[in-house]
Amino acid sequence: MYPRFRGRHRLHRFEDTGLEKCVGCSLCAAACPADCIRVVSAENTPENRISAGERYAAVYEINMSRCIFCGYCEVACPFDAITMGHDYELSDYRRGDLIFTKEMLLAEPLERTPLRAEGE
Ligand code: SF4
Ligand code: SF4
Repeated sequence: MYPRFRGRHRLHRFEDTGLEKCVGCSLCAAACPADCIRVVSAENTPENRISAGERYAAVYEINMSRCIFCGYCEVACPFDAITMGHDYELSDYRRGDLIFTKEMLLAEPLERTPLRAEGE
């Protein structure tokens, strides 16, 4: 796999606090030429702090059936909250299953990409 290959997206948390890096600013959605990112932001409160900023993404969805894997979203994000990894096994049977939710993007990707073992 080429190091700069752009595959399945990941959303990230801060390692120390566990807070989400995404602040729901929608810059990634604005940069997306395929219009496949949907962000709905909400305010953090002292009782319910989700991200390190004032706001967080209450909804964050990427419609993978429309994504062209251009990488503009990760370039547009000011907080490196979204990056693209190497997972490319994304086909599915239903269109609805290709809408990746925030919870899916925050979780470790399912290891569906077949990788060669060392020396294979
Ligand atoms: S890779 Fe490109 S098309 Fe896909 S979500 Fe990001 S900006 Fe949109
Ligand atoms: S992923 Fe980055 S650019 Fe997109 S809404 Fe979150 S903080 Fe903003």
